[in-house]
Amino acid sequence: MKIERITSFVLRVGLNDNTFYSSQCAFPQRNSLLVRVETDSGLVGWGEGGQYGPPEPVAAVVDSVLTPILLGRDPMHVGRLWEELYAATRDFGRAGAYIEAISAVDIACWDIRGQALGVPVHALLGGAFRDTVAAYATGCYYRESDMTDHKARLPALAEEAGKYMAQGFGILKMKVGLLPVAQDLERVAAVRSAIGDDTPLLVDCNHAYDCHTALRMGRGLEHYGALWMEEPVPPEDHAGYRRLRAALELAVTGGECEYTRYGFRDLIGTSCVDVAQPDICVAGGFSEWLKIQALASAFAVPTVPHVWGSGVALAAALHALAALPPLPHTAKPVPLQNEPIIEFDRNHNPLRDDLLEQTFTLEDGRVRVPQGAGLGITLDETVLEKFAVH
Ligand code: MG
Repeated sequence: MKIERITSFVLRVGLNDNTFYSSQCAFPQRNSLLVRVETDSGLVGWGEGGQYGPPEPVAAVVDSVLTPILLGRDPMHVGRLWEELYAATRDFGRAGAYIEAISAVDIACWDIRGQALGVPVHALLGGAFRDTVAAYATGCYYRESDMTDHKARLPALAEEAGKYMAQGFGILKMKVGLLPVAQDLERVAAVRSAIGDDTPLLVDCNHAYDCHTALRMGRGLEHYGALWMEEPVPPEDHAGYRRLRAALELAVTGGECEYTRYGFRDLIGTSCVDVAQPDICVAGGFSEWLKIQALASAFAVPTVPHVWGSGVALAAALHALAALPPLPHTAKPVPLQNEPIIEFDRNHNPLRDDLLEQTFTLEDGRVRVPQGAGLGITLDETVLEKFAVH
């Protein structure tokens, strides 16, 4: 089998009046980059990368740098192809758009491999431990009005948190880091009272703090029973991560801005995080996910993949999570404690909800893993065309 054509699709859809904010930026639109890999056997694979920033640079890498290397090659040899793409871009790549582009074509090759063998990707990854994955809701972002009158926003924030509980979520992740610590802790208190004392609460800072401010925030979060503090400091501040981990009881987590086994070697091997969060569409695709996951497990660090982007990214994460062993093993694993969980972003996202013919919904707090060959997904090409930027 040979790769005959690779097409990149820059996707962009405005969110109209649904703009939301993290500590870093506004999200007035959703972006991503999809790649379609076509083979001479007629099999077609899909992959995704470039969902963090503008997808155009990632598309340029796919089109100008990776495609000339991949045309005529056998997608079944994806491990070798990954090494060749990495070696060809090492001198100027190793992170960012280059690795996102490699992630996208790698995922598409795994999709083709699964289809060629008639098995789902989770079977290729070693076999599924589960056919549904416990989900946590990612929500409670900022709105414009948080910045003008955060107190007036608290009832709506609490209502949003309560809605996720009513939908059946058993775990919630909220955002902090945009407002002063004291005001953000009022938001945390409002969410805590809406979800009750027993619901696990995770908090994501998106690297908003320096170390001593993160420490102050971390102590406040512990007061409200938060179980983890995600990206408390910038990804480069490994000393800050280590200091926080030593000082706080809650789990210090991170890794969505990290790339490849080499980035995770530096993050995990120097004791920066309690939980590693590689994004499969960013850190290097399924090929690299296996290496990162092996590395993390050797350090007894659980991996909870970061999930953003379209339905393709969500499907990829579900396959990876299906094949992830409980860490550590117990006879009856508990979600978050030793059973993997999937990040299920609840902000408005037509790329996640409309692009695939499948829809991923919550059933008893869990999301079903696709069972078809490869990624087990079908794209609606009419919707693809509607969201594609030409
Ligand atoms: Mg995050």
